[in-house]
Amino acid sequence: MSDTPDTDVRFADLGLAPEILAAVVELGYETPSAIQAGAIPPLLAGRDLIGQAQTGTGKTAAFALPLLQRLDLERRDVQAIVLTPTRELAMQVASAVRAYGRRIGKHGVHVLPVYGGQPIHIQHKALQGTVHVVIGTPGRVADHLRRGTLDLEGVHFFCLDEADEMLNMGFLDDVEWILEHADAERQIALFSATMPGPIRRVAKRYLRDPVDVLIAHETKTVENVEQMSLRVPRHARNEALERLLGIEDHEAVLVFVGTQRVAASLAEHLQARGFGADCIHGGMNQTQRDDVVRRLRSRRIQIVVATDVAARGLDVDHIGLVVNYDLPRDPEIYVHRVGRTARAGRAGRAVTLWQPREQRMLQSIERFSGQPMQPMRIPGVEELLARQRGRMIEKLRPIAAESSPEFAAWAQAIVDAEGIDAGTLAAAALRLAWGDGPLSAPPQEEGPLDPSDVVEIVIPVGTRDRVRPGTIVGTIAGETGLPGSVVGRINVRERVTFVEVPSSHVQTILDKLSGTRIAGRVVRPRLAHPEGDGGARRPRPRGPHRGDRRP
Ligand code: AMP
Repeated sequence: MSDTPDTDVRFADLGLAPEILAAVVELGYETPSAIQAGAIPPLLAGRDLIGQAQTGTGKTAAFALPLLQRLDLERRDVQAIVLTPTRELAMQVASAVRAYGRRIGKHGVHVLPVYGGQPIHIQHKALQGTVHVVIGTPGRVADHLRRGTLDLEGVHFFCLDEADEMLNMGFLDDVEWILEHADAERQIALFSATMPGPIRRVAKRYLRDPVDVLIAHETKTVENVEQMSLRVPRHARNEALERLLGIEDHEAVLVFVGTQRVAASLAEHLQARGFGADCIHGGMNQTQRDDVVRRLRSRRIQIVVATDVAARGLDVDHIGLVVNYDLPRDPEIYVHRVGRTARAGRAGRAVTLWQPREQRMLQSIERFSGQPMQPMRIPGVEELLARQRGRMIEKLRPIAAESSPEFAAWAQAIVDAEGIDAGTLAAAALRLAWGDGPLSAPPQEEGPLDPSDVVEIVIPVGTRDRVRPGTIVGTIAGETGLPGSVVGRINVRERVTFVEVPSSHVQTILDKLSGTRIAGRVVRPRLAHPEGDGGARRPRPRGPHRGDRRP
C-alpha cells in the first residue's frame, strides 16, 4: 500500500455498510487509499469505472468492498465475476474478498477461484454449490461459460483486474467474449496500471459513462537515486551488509527489513560490530520511534533499521543510502523505500540484497520503477581496509597541511631522545591511531560467505547468564584478534549458545576461548556436532531462537 496518507477521507465517509467497515477496521486499515476513496463511492452507486492504479495502491479493496456490499447472500448463484491475468492473482484476490467479506451474511460469502491448470471437473463440482463470486483467469471463466457450468444470468458486476496484463497474456479475446454475453444491466470496473490502445477500446465499447480514477504513480521519486543490486546468500547478508556499510561513506543510512524481530536483532548486531545503529518498528511506541529519528537527524546515530510501517513519514534529508536487507513485498513499496534518499536535491544510493529465488520480484521491481539496478558484488575485506586506510589519510592530510610548531618540536624531541628516525616514529603514531584491527587482510578472512565452510560451536553460557550476541562477538574478536565479522549466526539458548564460525578459524577460536570468562563464567567451548562429520553444520535445532541474528 502507498505509505503516504493519500487522502483526508475516512472509511466511514464512503457509504460502506457497518459489517464491511468492521472487517476493514479489523484488518488494521486506518484510512482509505486514494484509489479506494476515489472508486468506492461511485461503485457503490452502481457506476462503471476505469481505475488507473498499480498493485500496491489498495485497488483490490477498492473494487472488492463495493462488490461485497452489492451481493445478495440469500441467493445461491454467482453475482460477481472478477477476471485476473494469473492464477496467483486470482487466489490472492479471492482471499482478500473472503477477508473483507467475513462479517457479512449468516453463512458468509462464497468465493471460488477458477483458473487453468486445475482440473475443470473440480471447479465444476464447486460451481454446483453456492458460489457468490467467481474470480478467475479469462480463459478458464470463458471455458466454464461455454460448457454451461457457469452462467451469467445473475451476474451484475464484472471487474477486470490488471487489464493491461490480461492483454499481455493474450486474454483480451476471452475478456471481450465474456462481456459480450453479459447482462445489459451489468456494472463493470476496469483496473489497469497503464492504458494501452486495446484496453481503451474495450473500455469504450463495454463501459457506460465510466467514472475515471487516476492514481499517479511515483516512479519520479527514484529517478535520481543510483540503484544497485547485490546478490547474496541469505546466511551471508549480515556480512555483506557490514562490508557495505564499511565501504560506503554516508552520514545517514536506512536499512529496510521485513519484520520487527529482524529490525531489532539486526540493529543489535550492528551495534555489536561498532556501528551507530538503532531500529524503528511497529512494536515500539511513537515516543520511542521519534527518539530514534531525532538521534538520526542530529547525527548521533548513522544507521536506522526499519520496517515499512514504522518508516512511514520518516523524513530525514541527509539519508544518503537505503539498503533493502529484505526485498519489499511489492514493487511500489520499493519505490517508497528508495524515495527516502536523494531528498532535497542531494545524491542518493540504494542497494538491494537479493537471493536467486527472488529474481522474479527483482525484475518486477525494475519494471515498476522503470530503472534497472546495477549489479554489484560484495566488497572484499581488503577493499574495506583500503577504504579505511584512505579515510585515515584524508583525516591526516589537513592536519599535516597546518603548521603546528609545538608538535613538530615534540616529534623532533622524541626522535632525538629515543634514537629513532622520523619514519619509524610516524609508523608508530599510525599504529596507535589505527587501533588493534588488521591493516590488511589475508584472503581467507573474507568471512563465512560459503555455508559449507561454517561449523557450529557451543559455549556453555546463555540467557540465564544474560549473554547477548554482542557479548559473544566481542569475546571472540577480543580473544582471537579476528574481525568480528567472521562470526556467523548466534543462537543464545537458556544455558548454552550456538555460534557459527568459519571452519578455517574454528581451532583458533576454540583454543583462545577455552578458559576465558564470559558473563562471569569460565567457559570451555566445544564443537556442537563433533562426531562423524568432523563438526560440519547440521540442521539447526528447533525451538525458540533467542537472540537469533540471522533469521
Ligand atoms: P493491493 O494494491 O490491493 O494489492 O493492496 C496492497 C496492500 O495494501 C495489501 O496488503 C492490502 O491489505 C493493503 N491495504 C489495502 N488498503 C489498505 C488501507 N486502506 N490501509 C492499509 N493497508 C491497505
